[in-house]
Amino acid sequence: MYPCPSCQQHTLGFSAKIWTTVALPVKCRGCGALCFVPGSPGGVLAVFNVVLLTASGFAASAWHTPWPLAAAAVVAVALWLLRLHAQPFLALTPAQAAAALKHEGFWLFVFIVLSLFQ
Ligand SMILES: [Zn+2]
Repeated sequence: MYPCPSCQQHTLGFSAKIWTTVALPVKCRGCGALCFVPGSPGGVLAVFNVVLLTASGFAASAWHTPWPLAAAAVVAVALWLLRLHAQPFLALTPAQAAAALKHEGFWLFVFIVLSLFQ
């Protein structure tokens, strides 16, 4: 369990870290605060995972075996989970969550409309 940024009680689970976004925050069972883990800004881990998966893909192709790519995929997922484990929750106000949901809902609507014309 992870501490809520508002009340510091350990009420938030790891699955909440995986599934929450700024538009769909989790509610603290202790104080009711809305919490989320910000998405990855990219950075060193994303670049490392891209290089690792690309290099292992070339190795898998050269050696005619899927094992290098499978091992690299396991490492990439493990590193992503470790980053998620280390990243703390942030608190949101209900107005911030509503604004984020409205914003993401608008872009989801745009993507659906655009996908109809392809
Ligand atoms: Zn709380």
